[in-house]
Amino acid sequence: MNFKIHRGTQEIGGSCVEVWTDETRIVIDIGMPLVEKDGSEFDFGKYHHFQTDELVRKGILPDIKGFYQNEQLGIDGILLSHAHVDHYGFGRYLHPDICYYLGAPTHKLINLTCLFTPQQNNIKNWTYFEKSKAFFIGNIKITPFWMDHSAFDAYAFLLEAEGKSIFYSGDFRGHGRKSGAFKWFTHNAPQSVDYLLLEGTQIERNAHKDKTEREIENELIAIFSEKGKINLVYSSGQNIDRLVSVYKACKQTGKTFAIDVYIACILKELSNYASIPYPSRNFKEVRVFFPHYLCNRISSQNDANLLYQFQSFKITKEQISEEKGNVVMLVRSSMKFDLDHIKGIEGGNIIYSMWEGYLRQESTKIFLEYLKGRQFKIMKIHTSGHADIETLSQMADAIKPKKIVPIHTFRGNEYQKHFNYQIAQVKDGETVTI
Ligand SMILES: [Zn+2]
Ligand SMILES: [Zn+2]
Repeated sequence: MNFKIHRGTQEIGGSCVEVWTDETRIVIDIGMPLVEKDGSEFDFGKYHHFQTDELVRKGILPDIKGFYQNEQLGIDGILLSHAHVDHYGFGRYLHPDICYYLGAPTHKLINLTCLFTPQQNNIKNWTYFEKSKAFFIGNIKITPFWMDHSAFDAYAFLLEAEGKSIFYSGDFRGHGRKSGAFKWFTHNAPQSVDYLLLEGTQIERNAHKDKTEREIENELIAIFSEKGKINLVYSSGQNIDRLVSVYKACKQTGKTFAIDVYIACILKELSNYASIPYPSRNFKEVRVFFPHYLCNRISSQNDANLLYQFQSFKITKEQISEEKGNVVMLVRSSMKFDLDHIKGIEGGNIIYSMWEGYLRQESTKIFLEYLKGRQFKIMKIHTSGHADIETLSQMADAIKPKKIVPIHTFRGNEYQKHFNYQIAQVKDGETVTI
């Protein structure tokens, strides 16, 4: 068995690993990069007009034969670990006949993202896998392990063929609402693994220990308990653990949880897979508002029925204004226009609940400056979607691999100081034969 990390040995984002045997060739993840080669933010707008072969030549797309549209299909399948764009964002370029192997909720999340944003994908053939149930692509046996991560439906993969094995950690943590999944893993981890491809997003933070989602929930309760102010929460609509924390804090403090129609669609769809709050009679605290630009976009795509389904849970701008002291509202930078029409909310709280790196984005800066202008107090409450060093060590110790390969990290050279295992420093594009 062989593998090649096309992207990720020196950076976070753009994840893509090719694995092959004499008879089978597969790819794990086809992510969009988060950074350019010089470390600046990756801007897809600079590249979207290029043809696939030009993007391969420029080193933006991984150089994988038989993977893309307009060539003969030469790949037996692609595995997706979870629905974050740094793991699936270049799917639009793939051969239309390629088969995706992914979790059903991951597929639904990707479809919804494509409806509500300019994202595109090309998933025409798919097979859903289930946690801990092994399956084969050609002669490669794959076992998906369900992981705790800020994405709803995230997996690590064990790949076995020709008497060898690779474990791809994907993105994971142990301090989220699915910490039980990680604990279960540490007791049921595969043994005798040759190579552990271990994510190291947080390697640089050394002994730092992350807050749990429950601690986040308690911090939110303390803030929401203050009377008379509106609370705006700036968070990812797909970080379901965080949305649940906000919802629970609302329930504890008797607040209305105002979500926009995009998040309402996500929660409703995912409620088929987990008991989470969504706009319905069972979750009376949850109300839906209809952002101007988003609704125009959806209506122009002839998808207005997506909007009507939440009509009876609607909260208007006027109601938010009147009930401001009782409202917790999820916001994004695209909602400045809507907030402009919500009167009298000056002096409220804006709780920034995402990775600090996004604060450098121009749209986020403009949005927060706008709220500062309305005398909002900015607070930061967040915990990472990725494992701290203690949790990374727990994974390594559960598997006891022969070698660890750094991936999804800017600090691969620091692994040796944290793990008592042989570290194989592999380069992007280097073939490793096991
Ligand atoms: Zn990632
Ligand atoms: Zn992720």
